[in-house]
Amino acid sequence: MDFNHYFSNDELIALITSWAEIFPQLITVNKLGESYEKRPIWILTITNQASGMAQDKPAVWIDANIHATEISGTTVALFIAQSLLHGYGNDLQITRLLDTSVFYIVPRVNPDGAALAMGPKPCYVRSGVRPYPWDEKEEGLHVEDIDNDGRILQMRLPDQNGDWKISSLDTRLMEKRSPDENGGTYYRLLSEGLLEDFDGYVIREARPFQGLDFNRNFPFEWRPEGEQSGSGPYPASEPEIRALIDFIVNHPNINLALTYHTFSKVILRPYSTKSDDAMDTNDLWVYKRIGARGTEITGYRNVSVFHDFKYHPKEVTTGAFDDWMYDTLGVFTFTIELWDLPTEAGIKDRKFIEWWRDHPHSEDVQILKWAEEHADPGAYVDWYESIHPQLGKVELGGWNQMYTWRNPPPALIGQEAIRQFPFILALGEMLPHLRIYKLEVTSLTEGDYRINLVIDNSGFLPTFTSMQGKKRQAVRPVRIELELPENATLISGKRRSDLGHLQGRSKDLDVTSFGASNPTDNRGRLEWVIRAPAGTQLVINILSERAGSLRKTILLP
Ligand SMILES: [Zn+2]
Repeated sequence: MDFNHYFSNDELIALITSWAEIFPQLITVNKLGESYEKRPIWILTITNQASGMAQDKPAVWIDANIHATEISGTTVALFIAQSLLHGYGNDLQITRLLDTSVFYIVPRVNPDGAALAMGPKPCYVRSGVRPYPWDEKEEGLHVEDIDNDGRILQMRLPDQNGDWKISSLDTRLMEKRSPDENGGTYYRLLSEGLLEDFDGYVIREARPFQGLDFNRNFPFEWRPEGEQSGSGPYPASEPEIRALIDFIVNHPNINLALTYHTFSKVILRPYSTKSDDAMDTNDLWVYKRIGARGTEITGYRNVSVFHDFKYHPKEVTTGAFDDWMYDTLGVFTFTIELWDLPTEAGIKDRKFIEWWRDHPHSEDVQILKWAEEHADPGAYVDWYESIHPQLGKVELGGWNQMYTWRNPPPALIGQEAIRQFPFILALGEMLPHLRIYKLEVTSLTEGDYRINLVIDNSGFLPTFTSMQGKKRQAVRPVRIELELPENATLISGKRRSDLGHLQGRSKDLDVTSFGASNPTDNRGRLEWVIRAPAGTQLVINILSERAGSLRKTILLP
C-alpha cells in the first residue's frame, strides 16, 4: 500500500475491510457512529485477540481528521494501523505490544468534511457540513472557487489603504507594507469567494455558513457562540463528537491518546485555557517527559497550547479534545500538528503563531522556492485577471493551500507517517500493566491452605494514569475477586478486596526525596486462608480499569 496518498472515504473503507479479512485475529472494524450526513465513522481495535479481550488490556487512543481539510492525519493513522498489523509476528516489540495492549484507531472522525475537502469542487470548511449557526448565508464574503478551476486562491484588489504591495524580491509574491510606508501601489488581499448581499462598497468577512468547529464542542469549559464561534449549540451536540465521547467514557482502559491535526510540526499538550501552574505538578512532569520522547523520536517540538500556541495572547480556545480527555478522565492526550511548510523550506524554530504576524519577507521567497522544487505544479499561482461577478475586474493568485500549507504534497505525507509510528510504539511501552509477581499456595493443617498473592504494575504510568485521573475519581482502584466453589470456606481474607492503586515509574520524576521514595509502591499483596478439599479449583480475578485485568485459576494441591 502506497502511503504517499490521501484516502477518500471509499478507499478508506476498502482498506480497513481488507485488513479485517486478512488479519481477523488482530483487528476488529466497528462503526463508532454516524456523521451528520449519515456516513459511518469507523473505529479499528487492534490487539491479539488470542491473548485476551481488548477491554481487558491497557489502551492507546489515536484519532485523526476532526478538521475537514486536515486529511494528513488519516493517512498517518492508517499507516500506523497497517504497521501494527504487519509487524505482528515479524517484529518482537510490536508482537509483545499487541499481546499485552490495545490500540483504538479512528482514522477519520469527520467523513463529511473530508468528502467536501477532497471533492471535485473544493471548499474550505473547518469541521462539519451542518449549516451553523444560521441556516442561511450571512451577509459578507464566503470563501469558494469563483472561476471553476478547482482551486481556492486569493483575490487582490488595488487599494491605496491596502496593507500589501507587490514583492521587491519576486513579483509573484505579495509583501507587507511597513508602518511608515506611503506613496506606492497597494492592495487588499481577500480569500477567493462570493459576496452575499453586497452593496458595492462594504465588504464584510461573513461568518462561515458551515461554521462548526468540532474541536470546540467537547465538554471542557465549553462556551456558546457569542463567546467562541463554532462551538455548537451545547457540549457534544454534534453526532461525530458524541460518538467519540460515548466510546471513550465506556472504555476506561485508555491511558494515552493522540489526535492528529495539521500543521506546524508540533506536539501540543493541555491546557489550552490556563498556565502550567494550574496543572498538577507531577502530571506536568509526566507530560513534559512523554512529550520530550516525542520530540526525540519525531523531531516535532513539544509545547503547551496556552504558553506557545495561542492565536491571540489574551484569548484562549475551549472545548478541545485534549483538554477534555486530560481534565475529565486524566488521560494524557496530545494534539499532533503534522507537517510544516516553513520548516520543510528550511526556516527553523519559528514562533508558531507569531510568525504569521511578522517575519522577514525573504522567508516567503525561500518557501516559494522550496515549493517550486518539491510541490506539485500549481502550488503557487501567479496573479491573473478574472471577472468577479460582484467586484468586476480582480486578480486571482497566491497559494493553493490544500496541498502546500494545510497538508504536504502527496509525495511527502508518507515520510510524516513513518516519523510518527515509533512514537506510537513508545506510548504503548509506557502503559501500566498488572502482572502476578508471586502466587504461592501453602498447605497448613489438614484441609487449610494459605494463598499468598503479590501483584505489581510493570508500567511507566500508574494504575490511575495521572494525578488528575485520581483527583477526578475517573479510575476505580485495583480490585481482587476470589471465586470459590461451594465446598470451599474462606477462613481469613475477603472475597472482594480493594487493593488501592499501584504506582508506576513516572512517580520517580519527583526527585524531592532523592531515592528515599517507596521502592515497592508499584506492588500490592493479599493473603487468604481457605478450607477446601485437595483438588479444589479456585479463580482469582485481578481487575484494573487502566492497567488490564487478569484471571488466574489455582488447583489446590
Ligand atoms: Zn486541526
